[in-house]
Amino acid sequence: MTGFSIDAVVTAVSEVTGPRERVGLHEPEFRGREMEYLARCIETGWVSYLGEYVERFERELAVATGTRHAVVTVNGTVATHTAMMVAGIGPGDEVLLPALTFVASANGVAHAGAIPHFVDSEITTLGLDPAKLADHLSSIAEVEGDVCRNKETGRPIRAVMPVHIFGHPVRMPALLEVAARFRLKVIEDAAESLGSLHDGRPLGGLGSMGILSFNGNKIVTTGGGGAIVTNDETLARRAKHLTTTAKKPHPYAFDHDEIGYNYRMPNINAAVGCAQLERLGDFVMRKRKLADRYRAALAGVPGVTFFGEPAGATSNYWLNAILLDDAHADERDRLIETFMKRGIQCRPVWTPMHELPMYRAAPRADLSVCEQIARRLVNIPSSPALADGLVTT
Ligand SMILES: *Cc1c(COP(=O)(O)O)cnc(C)c1O
Repeated sequence: MTGFSIDAVVTAVSEVTGPRERVGLHEPEFRGREMEYLARCIETGWVSYLGEYVERFERELAVATGTRHAVVTVNGTVATHTAMMVAGIGPGDEVLLPALTFVASANGVAHAGAIPHFVDSEITTLGLDPAKLADHLSSIAEVEGDVCRNKETGRPIRAVMPVHIFGHPVRMPALLEVAARFRLKVIEDAAESLGSLHDGRPLGGLGSMGILSFNGNKIVTTGGGGAIVTNDETLARRAKHLTTTAKKPHPYAFDHDEIGYNYRMPNINAAVGCAQLERLGDFVMRKRKLADRYRAALAGVPGVTFFGEPAGATSNYWLNAILLDDAHADERDRLIETFMKRGIQCRPVWTPMHELPMYRAAPRADLSVCEQIARRLVNIPSSPALADGLVTT
């Protein structure tokens, strides 16, 4: 297609974001009961690891993800580390995950001593490709009893961690089928997808465990925070124990039965989380409205496509994304610079994990689609307030 022009793309996006001096990529919004709940923590002195909001936030997160249990933590990275430990994954084990993800996914695996093994993504979901995963495993792995072994490294492959990129669901039914065939545990990285549905079911509760993040830029924020969600009570108890210094429950004795972690979320953060979670439905509704506006504004613009939710998905559109046609991929940085000059914050997708120095030697599959997406994708402003003209900075 001819007629691609950077100005046309920037103009279409700026018609949606409106006449503002500066538009952030994703700004938090505190228009609910955050102040009220925070004041209650301070007035009562319950600011730290005990208090009503921690338990309430855990209960409500379980409801939001359609799971039975949630354990909140200080961030999403340690939630991933904890999920690995609770799943019995450690040194000498491999965990499959997409190379196209935020570095926290791979770090959480590495912190447990396990080895990330990178697999490819698909252009229709931006997430892990179940069909390509099956092909890769068929050629490099064998199942012995209940263990999937990497024939090239000799190591067991214990789990697969799909990541729902920008809130868009991975094709979970197909992935669960491949995981069962190769005896892999499924741990969902749902850090970006709170509030998204796949065939009407919330993400995070579709595997054995899911992890969430409440970092400042996520759809629901606690400043910093994370959670492990699961239907399995044994896993939830173990996660709670490990993240609370492995302290044995007792009215006054301080007694610990293993080397635990201080990964608990403080009550102040959980208070903000409770107030934010009350707004989740509203955030998702407005972000979906914003996505509709971008889709319409970019529909007639040559050389670029707005990334829309895959079939069967109701996405939270955490971060909106546009894909340049392959022919214009080398214009990406010039496009980003033009946006920035106009005060519109945007960015390329993360550098793929296998290109980072600490993961360059990690085992991996063919990653050609990941590399193609990385060349073509640009994230554009996604604050919910952009849907109703309320962003002011
Ligand atoms: C945000 C995020 C995490 C967790 O990050 P923290 O900053 O540690 O909370 C994990 N995975 C993905 C894909 C993320 O976007």
